[in-house]
Amino acid sequence: SIKGQYGKHFAAYDDKLRGELLRQQAIIDGMETALSEGQFMLYLQPKYRIRDNKLVGAEALIRWNHPIWGFQLPAEFIPLFEKNGFIAKLDQFVWDKACSTLREWDEKGYLPISISVNVSRADIYNINIIEILMDTVRRHGLRPSRLHLEITESAYTEQPAQIIETITKLRELGFIIEMDDFGSGYSSLNMLNQMPLDILKLDMKFIQGETGKSVGQGILQTIVELARRMRLSVVAEGVETKEQLDRVAETGCDYVQGYYFAKPMPIQDLEALLKERRAAELLVEDNDCIAA
Ligand code: C2E
Ligand code: MG
Ligand code: MG
Ligand code: MG
Repeated sequence: SIKGQYGKHFAAYDDKLRGELLRQQAIIDGMETALSEGQFMLYLQPKYRIRDNKLVGAEALIRWNHPIWGFQLPAEFIPLFEKNGFIAKLDQFVWDKACSTLREWDEKGYLPISISVNVSRADIYNINIIEILMDTVRRHGLRPSRLHLEITESAYTEQPAQIIETITKLRELGFIIEMDDFGSGYSSLNMLNQMPLDILKLDMKFIQGETGKSVGQGILQTIVELARRMRLSVVAEGVETKEQLDRVAETGCDYVQGYYFAKPMPIQDLEALLKERRAAELLVEDNDCIAA
């Protein structure tokens, strides 16, 4: 009967929902232990300057290596931690790890790259955020400009006046501010014009877009030109193929990040890339000496 069918449908739906809720509860129950036992790991995804293919920075992306579930992606647990407040602790861990890594690499004499960290909407509206971030870089003896703060587009629209005040101060102190996922939400161009920013990070949909190629390209071109006029640098994220890189490069976009170059990797793997690069640059210097 119809009623029977609906009954079955609801039962299946109930089971699915129950499964999800149980999983969410398990994530929440495990979060503190995970942090204290080192299950959270920082991964780094390199960012390259298109003009000269130079490795200029990396984005810090959190991974949860769970003893039973294995590797967990942030899309599932970050939203839960934004709701229950644990994100503040987790992000503090990420920022400290990013800073201690930069410091260690400085001491080893690698070229001074920057690390972009994600600053959750919950973090940026914390009234102590300026002190917290300043204190973090100071503790590691770094200049604030070595940290790029990525704030997702939709966070700007929540309390524009408050966020303008906060990021104005952070920029005055030397932090570099990036708008993440630009174009994913409903921020207006007027709002973009009012925000004190340094870098626009394009949402992946512009790069991977399903829209017809020419239309997509026209929009991409217009956004990059607009950013130029506002004196913002532009990062294209989610570049997976040579064609996408060519499309992005054609618009005059400054930086790229994506699987075409590298996936997010453990810290030691990025260190290996930096070592190679340093060796290559020393080689060039040696040759210069010979020539001179
Ligand atoms: P996001 O900040 O926009 O990070 C970019 C996401 O795109 C990352 O996913 C990255 O692995 C992925 N990605 C990079 N290149 C490509 C590509 O070529 N193709 C595709 N398909 N994907 C690519 P991930 O690591 O799963 O992170 C998802 C989101 O979770 C991040 O988006 C960010 O909003 C949040 N997140 C990650 N780590 C942290 C963190 O430490 N703190 C906070 N607050 N949020 C974080
Ligand atoms: Mg990001
Ligand atoms: Mg994001
Ligand atoms: Mg993004």
